[in-house]
Amino acid sequence: MTPTLEIGPRHRGVIRAAAKKAWPAEACGLLVGTADPVCMIWRVARVVGSPNLLAPARDDRFEVDPALLLRTHREAREAGLALVGLYHSHPRGVAVPSETDRQSAWQPGLAWLIVAGPPAWDDLRAFLNDGTDTDAHFAAMRLSGGG
Ligand SMILES: [Zn+2]
Repeated sequence: MTPTLEIGPRHRGVIRAAAKKAWPAEACGLLVGTADPVCMIWRVARVVGSPNLLAPARDDRFEVDPALLLRTHREAREAGLALVGLYHSHPRGVAVPSETDRQSAWQPGLAWLIVAGPPAWDDLRAFLNDGTDTDAHFAAMRLSGGG
């Protein structure tokens, strides 16, 4: 069964805007919502943008602010939600995980949403890390929710 990431047009717009704003560096942030590993549906309820701690020194990788990550975990739990994924941009690449992404991936079960651009800021693709703690593996997800 192909896993699905459900994300609405408003949230897609927020992520594209963040990618454009961060360009030529990578934008990054967190996806909060609900994950149903039985039905294989990851639903995004909130998008939480993060400063990229590696920008502007590097324009080919990202690091989410760890304090923001902790706070987002806590706030999600309090709201009955969970961290379900993260997003980042590939300012000069295609929207598929890079070898760097594979090596720096953490926490299997998270959805990775990648936006590529320019010029195609609408190239938005999602991948599920269905690997292990030490060996990430990205499976292509179906995007739903329109936009
Ligand atoms: Zn990447």
